[in-house]
Amino acid sequence: MTGTADAPPDYLDRLNPQQRAAVENIDGPLLVLAGAGTGKTRVLTTRLAHILSTRRAFPSQILAVTFTNKAAREMKERVAAMIGPASEGVWLGTFHSLSARILRRHAELVGLRPDFTILDTDDQIRLIRQLLVAERIDDKKWPPRAVLSTIERWKDRGLTPDKVPSDAAGEMAAGRAVALYAQYQERLRVLNACDFGDLMLHCLALFSGRPEVLAEYHRRFRYILVDEYQDTNVAQYLWLRLLAQGNRNLCCVGDDDQSVYGWRGAEVGNILRFEKDFADATVVRLEQNYRSSGHILACAAALIAHNRTRLGKTLWTAADPGRPVQLRGVWDGEEEARWIGEEIEALQRGGQALGQIALLVRAGFQTREFEERFIALGLPYRVVGGARFYERAEIRDAIAYARLLVQSSDDLAFERVVNVPRRGIGDKALQGLHRLARAEGIALADAAARLIETDEIKGPARAGLRRFLDDLGRWRAELARLPHAEVMGMVLDESGYTGMWRDDRSPEAPGRLENLKEFVSALEAFDTLQGFLEHVSLVMENAEAAPGDMVSLMTLHSAKGLEFDVVFLPGWEEGLFPHPRALDEKGAEALEEERRLAHVGLTRARRRAFVSFAANRRIHNLWQSAIPSRFVGELPEDHVERIAQPGLWAGGSRRARGESYDQSNEWVAAPAPLPRRPPPLPAPELSVPRRVAPSGIAVGDRVFHEKFGYGSVRSLEAGKLEVEFPTGRKKVMDSFVRKA
Ligand code: ATP
Ligand code: MG
Repeated sequence: MTGTADAPPDYLDRLNPQQRAAVENIDGPLLVLAGAGTGKTRVLTTRLAHILSTRRAFPSQILAVTFTNKAAREMKERVAAMIGPASEGVWLGTFHSLSARILRRHAELVGLRPDFTILDTDDQIRLIRQLLVAERIDDKKWPPRAVLSTIERWKDRGLTPDKVPSDAAGEMAAGRAVALYAQYQERLRVLNACDFGDLMLHCLALFSGRPEVLAEYHRRFRYILVDEYQDTNVAQYLWLRLLAQGNRNLCCVGDDDQSVYGWRGAEVGNILRFEKDFADATVVRLEQNYRSSGHILACAAALIAHNRTRLGKTLWTAADPGRPVQLRGVWDGEEEARWIGEEIEALQRGGQALGQIALLVRAGFQTREFEERFIALGLPYRVVGGARFYERAEIRDAIAYARLLVQSSDDLAFERVVNVPRRGIGDKALQGLHRLARAEGIALADAAARLIETDEIKGPARAGLRRFLDDLGRWRAELARLPHAEVMGMVLDESGYTGMWRDDRSPEAPGRLENLKEFVSALEAFDTLQGFLEHVSLVMENAEAAPGDMVSLMTLHSAKGLEFDVVFLPGWEEGLFPHPRALDEKGAEALEEERRLAHVGLTRARRRAFVSFAANRRIHNLWQSAIPSRFVGELPEDHVERIAQPGLWAGGSRRARGESYDQSNEWVAAPAPLPRRPPPLPAPELSVPRRVAPSGIAVGDRVFHEKFGYGSVRSLEAGKLEVEFPTGRKKVMDSFVRKA
């Protein structure tokens, strides 16, 4: 398939003249700055194929950077489809994977060994916590996650500890964040470990500190290609600039209107800087959109035109106008889920493949209602880029608490949350519990109830366990009096579990809190806690991932770069989208990023886009009357089709008058909160510890205890002994001693 001197390769035929220019203009810096669906990724992929097939470089001389590993796999497949196996060996991956690959080859030069480990978030947090403790900094006031995310933002900006201005951290970690950062780096070095940010930083240090190594990469990488350039952060930008200095064959493609990772350190300014850093750069603009039908494109263009800080661009399509974007007002979230389910079934009956349908949400917690609906309908779905709702860590924790309330002998649940949040119950104490439980054939909770009456476990662990057991008992009693959703809310609060996430200032924490509130909302639909738990286990069983044709559920963020025939965009309401948290923190700038996100959502659709909003939304377990998102009002009247139930949308008459819908609140008031369900079944009895058969030990016997040594028995009662040890009199379990 590769071209000969006379006939250009046929893959070039599948490009328009501007795209083709971008592909064939191989030498020198090139920036493709163009809107969604104009073929930027296609250009990048074809360019890669073209460099290889015209033998400008061997595969190993090309470095191509994509935003996700999935995108890298797709690009690899596409190139292979164009030019066959000749494409194997290209350095193709994300910034992180490529950096790791480079670092493994030169680890020693940055003080690591080639087998260095890459830490996950849990490891990072554990490390930071140790440092906080050592520094006597209150880790309640300055949660490790918050400190970590401060450090990560510095890393995004390419700042090593010595480069961070000492006052940059403000109050963070009692004003000692920069010092902690330095210590953290030192610890990583001792552990022969890196975090993700380090992969970039170490490379930067390597390239700038070792000119001979950088020169080697300049010789190696003759061509560098970068997709989704608008979402690179400063460290990534510096990394690219250093590598590209050699040959200056750097091709970046991006769209300033799709920059949606500012909150994670991305700098849309990198696009503007490109032309400054590479003064002779060719800038190609692509204007024809090949993805979306006319109405969809018009909606996307009108929406994004409300942003001020943008370069601005024209987009057109030769495609049919297609169907207008459907704007649907519904009564509440349940109706929204029901309607989308029906719509998908209808599309399916019409021959639409499910794999070409996506549902894009602003916040992770929103998937729950749709997941439940899809499961009820037997519609196969996958959650892309995240776990299914009931599999998320915080939801599993909450479920563990619920299971413990329903059944005190649920050991797995007990173990999961006995020390979450931390109650001072460490591995030692847990081992003791297990030992007794095994020896006596009883549940961990029962073992705990007995052990706390003895000296078998240390003071703080004992106090922690006692509190935990008392709490469980109290909540079970509440379950007999109050609605179970309310009790679960109480459990999550009083246990300190919600507080743990509230104190946590990491980027994921607010999403987890939202999920927890959604969890409590979900309980209301069930008569009993037991009924809910049964539902969850069935749901999770049925949702076992089977390969095949499935609807994709994902956040708007993870949909970047993808395309689908049909896209559903639910929850376009003020208070949900734009997301209030984003607005609180950064104001106008954040609103524009939210709008870019809406624009990303619309531009994923090829043929149909459905935007919906509910008049009433139970957000975080509270009914709220909602007004449509300001983004709804920014969609042009001529390109949308409005559908709402009679009485729900007073805008029907407005439409007749040709007025555009605005944010004025013409929704009927929220319904009263759902009537409370009758109190659930009486709570199960607290299981009473089984009386243990006498172990044959009698008062006066000499016994041996692993921890306390030899002693003599002074008194005994059901399973418990009082023993005089050389270190003093202790209460111990009889199954933990043997006759000496
Ligand atoms: P995004 O900004 O969303 O990442 P993009 O600019 O990368 O979009 P692509 O994904 O490369 O756009 O292309 C969008 C769609 O248009 C794809 O289905 C692609 O195959 C198709 N396409 C691109 N260029 C052409 C062309 N010249 N002729 C026909 N189809 C094209
Ligand atoms: Mg793309």
